[in-house]
Amino acid sequence: MRAVVTGGAGFLGSHLCDLLIEKGWQVLCLDNLVTGSEDNVAHLLSNPRFEMIRHDVTRPIAVEGPVQAVFHFACPASPVDYLRLPIETLEVGSLGTRNTLELAQAKGARHLLASTSECYGDPEVSPQPESYWGHVNPIGPRSVYDEAKRFSEALTMAYHRARGVDTRIVRIFNTYGPRMRLNDGRVLPNFVYQALTGQALTVYGDGRQTRSFCYVSDLIDGIYRLFESDHHEPVNIGNPREMTILEFAEMVLKFAGSASGIRFEPLPTDDPKRRCPDIAKAKRLLGWEPRVALEEGLPPTIEFFRRVVKVRQG
Ligand code: UDP
Repeated sequence: MRAVVTGGAGFLGSHLCDLLIEKGWQVLCLDNLVTGSEDNVAHLLSNPRFEMIRHDVTRPIAVEGPVQAVFHFACPASPVDYLRLPIETLEVGSLGTRNTLELAQAKGARHLLASTSECYGDPEVSPQPESYWGHVNPIGPRSVYDEAKRFSEALTMAYHRARGVDTRIVRIFNTYGPRMRLNDGRVLPNFVYQALTGQALTVYGDGRQTRSFCYVSDLIDGIYRLFESDHHEPVNIGNPREMTILEFAEMVLKFAGSASGIRFEPLPTDDPKRRCPDIAKAKRLLGWEPRVALEEGLPPTIEFFRRVVKVRQG
């Protein structure tokens, strides 16, 4: 069995490649390394079942030989990245998604789209069930990501309905763990870096906005279960433990053993006020729920960043 993973050198893509290799798949990883890194898959390069090709998926994807699965994970995913790469983000969500669906159709492969909780925008409903249509500003700065993913979902459903492609859609909520990029601008790498280097943690706004953090191994397990299911409509995968960003900052300080204080900075435009997955559907359809508590997932993540910071400083 052979899988193509776009964005396979990214944070989530590389963990997915690991799981696929563990399950006996052959894996072809496609990545243009705009936000991914070869370091994330360096440990797989000597494996004969793993291959990495540098490719921009907004250009047509030609793959020789059989393919049974296409996982489309290529996309800048942190607000700092997609605000820096707005056109590229819209293109990978439109042209890139089309190219991966075309590949799946041509090969008769199953296709899984990595979508996002950002489809819900700044939600008026919390927790967010899959049936909620969302509250997205279509022209705000974040729209390049939100609308690209909403378009990706629409295109995926169209290929399923009109062309019979066997598709899956996962809506991924905030996820953390080793291999996140130190400078990707997201809250966890920022806070951990600041905590480890004695700088005040930058809390945006009043810190009362909420997020729910899922450990990467839980997320990848949920995604693989969805892939194996026969459900075509979107399924939320995330950890439903919701907390304010201020509470999260205090937790990072505690687990990093840091005396860095907290500094307040302006809230970015259209920053969602609440985000928490309703995971009833994942529980019912996939028998999935997260197992790793934040108290268990934070220590190995902080250790990972401690090593990265040491290498940078050394
Ligand atoms: N945030 C923060 N300080 C930072 C980075 C982010 O307070 O240094 C906040 C951000 O405003 C948002 C939350 O943390 O409310 C999560 O931001 P992130 O960029 O990680 O991802 P998002 O969930 O917004 O996509």
